[in-house]
Amino acid sequence: MATKLRKGTVDNPPVGSNDPDQDGSLFRALLDKMPDGVFVAQDYRFVFANAALPRMLGYTYDEFVGLPFSAVIPPEILDLWNERFRARIGEGDEPPNTYEVRFLCKGGQRKLPIELNANRLMFGGQRSVLGIVRDISNRKRTLEALRESEDRFRGSFEQAAVGMAMVDLDGHFLSVNPKLCAILGYPATALHALTFQQITHPDDLDADVELMQGVLRGDHATYTLEKRYLRSDGSARWARLTVSLMREADGTPSHFISVVEDIHDQRMAQAALADSELRHRLLMHNLHAGLLICAPDARITYGNPEVSRMLHADPRAVIGKSVPELGCTFRDEHGSPLSLENDLLQRVRHSGRELTDLVLSIHRSDDVPPVWALVHAYPEFDTSRRFSRIVLMFIDITDRKRLEAELLADRQMKAAALDAMTSHVAVLDRQGVIVETNASWGRFAERGGYGRGKSFNGVNYLDVLAHVTGPDEAYAKAASDGIEAVMAGRSPLFQMDYPCHCPTERQWFAMKVTPMDAQRERVLVSHENITSIKLAEEAIRILANTDALTGLANRRHFLEIAEEEFARAQRYNTPLAVLMADLDFFKAINDRYGHAGGDTVLRHFAITLSSLLRDSDSAGRVGGEEFAVLLPHTSLDGAQAFAERLMECIAATPPDIDGALAPYTVSMGISEIDAGSKDFSALLRCADDALYRAKHNGRNRYEVLTAQDRSPPAGG
Ligand code: GH3
Ligand code: MG
Ligand code: MG
Repeated sequence: MATKLRKGTVDNPPVGSNDPDQDGSLFRALLDKMPDGVFVAQDYRFVFANAALPRMLGYTYDEFVGLPFSAVIPPEILDLWNERFRARIGEGDEPPNTYEVRFLCKGGQRKLPIELNANRLMFGGQRSVLGIVRDISNRKRTLEALRESEDRFRGSFEQAAVGMAMVDLDGHFLSVNPKLCAILGYPATALHALTFQQITHPDDLDADVELMQGVLRGDHATYTLEKRYLRSDGSARWARLTVSLMREADGTPSHFISVVEDIHDQRMAQAALADSELRHRLLMHNLHAGLLICAPDARITYGNPEVSRMLHADPRAVIGKSVPELGCTFRDEHGSPLSLENDLLQRVRHSGRELTDLVLSIHRSDDVPPVWALVHAYPEFDTSRRFSRIVLMFIDITDRKRLEAELLADRQMKAAALDAMTSHVAVLDRQGVIVETNASWGRFAERGGYGRGKSFNGVNYLDVLAHVTGPDEAYAKAASDGIEAVMAGRSPLFQMDYPCHCPTERQWFAMKVTPMDAQRERVLVSHENITSIKLAEEAIRILANTDALTGLANRRHFLEIAEEEFARAQRYNTPLAVLMADLDFFKAINDRYGHAGGDTVLRHFAITLSSLLRDSDSAGRVGGEEFAVLLPHTSLDGAQAFAERLMECIAATPPDIDGALAPYTVSMGISEIDAGSKDFSALLRCADDALYRAKHNGRNRYEVLTAQDRSPPAGG
């Protein structure tokens, strides 16, 4: 049975007699003002409620008071509820007194989530339950929303394309997503044991920590930083980090949310690009070629240091100028003035085509030597095919030009030297073809009947030599062999003297063949006219062989000739007679006519003797007034006849000395080659012995003595 709440019926009534709430109206008002619902339950029903509780559930006070639990408690928990109610009003320990349950609102459709605080209470002398009910539907909704948002966050966290982490205020990783693990190369479990400081590149750590502290101080809400993480394999990886600080409801910092974007490849590409741009710039800057870039209005937009040097221009003053404003002038290869603007830039602009290999010289003033340049000009077009600029490349060829000039001068000098040579010179290639001849060669050819200025270039000299016939054939063959030997490297040099006589003139030439280079690509053939040398040699030889006073062969030369004749006579077994002559009492002649008179007599004898000689005979002065005569193919008889003729002649025509005749006589000894003649000196000794006998036997006579006479057969 329900009891209406009245003052004084509650088991813990207000204390004191001067109770200001004598009628309980204040208590009632307080209860009704409470936002929480209050009820008293007895016998499985609600026997008392404040105003808030029926309102929460959609009832009026009167409808609510007296309702059984089953009207408010959902059927699925009714048994549990009743059991707890029994326990609460029972004798034992009080069970936990706060629950979250759902009450059915009026009509039984809607359920209101509530938090119930249940207490044991004596009410109207009966064990009762005092319940305080709080509507937690708002809290529930908020929690639900929070859970949903957390689920959403977790989903996006797990599947995010960027690395994400929750990091505590000390830097420990609280949670990490798979992408971050992939970026950093660590499994999640490993990251949970680490701080971000431990895996940040040392060079980037200070900046990161400083920014993080700025966020904690409240300087800024978030920060972004491009930094390097150290991956588990030790490599560094570039990432863009964005950090936001999460705070509790009261504003205390709670943790960081870090978003990590992998920008490594991008950074590397940027670095490579920057690197290549730098290289490009460095290259342009340090290029050995000068670079000048002109805009369509002909203003210079870029000039590298090399072009400034070549144009004699201040590198800083080049940009923005037009070429004519640079203050230098240009000339073409022939020295004629050249306008870079008109002759080059305009042509390229108008034709839209590149212009290459223009050789020009750059002049500043007469004091500065000109710079020679090879210039290429390239037009460039933008993407819409509009002419955008001209790139001019200047290659310094001053050194080359100087070398060319030197080479030309050298060539001219060499050609002049070659032409100045009296030798006839021809340069042959490997095949023997004449590639160059000098002026002397031309003159010689002209004298030899070739036309003036006839070119021999292209003529194969070896072919010419191969066709020589007649007396010169052997020389031509020797010359050809010599040239080929030098060409083949078999011999370092070939030299040959050869005669080249014509009916009017005796001439000799010295031919010389020398390689012109180590590879023997060219050989130089020279022919030097050595006629004068040959003639001089001949004169010297004659002088060396001839007795100056008489013109006969001297002793040495006579013996040379005699040895040869002796050998020939022996070889062919032909007769050979020798005659030795000595003027009689010559000392007395000298005494009488003087030494010069004696010489006159000696010359007279020589002339007389010579006049009697045949071509094959030879005579020599072998001593002061001693002479020897060699008579090949002559027997002893012939020699004796010769001696007699000689004596007769002398006697018949005595010499004239100072207007007076000076007759004289001669003694002679004759010998001839025979089986006993060992050598010529033995033969001469025999003749000498015979001469001795002639002297001994009275002079002005001859004696004959042979080897057989000197050494008669044994027993004779
Ligand atoms: P013999 O009849 O025995 O031969 O008497 P000889 O006086 O001719 O003998 P000898 O051989 O003693 O003398 C030779 C002389 O000839 C001595 C030398 O002064 C002289 N004589 C040698 N060479 C020349 C020369 O070139 N000119 C001149 N005028 N006298 C010469
Ligand atoms: Mg003598
Ligand atoms: Mg004598």
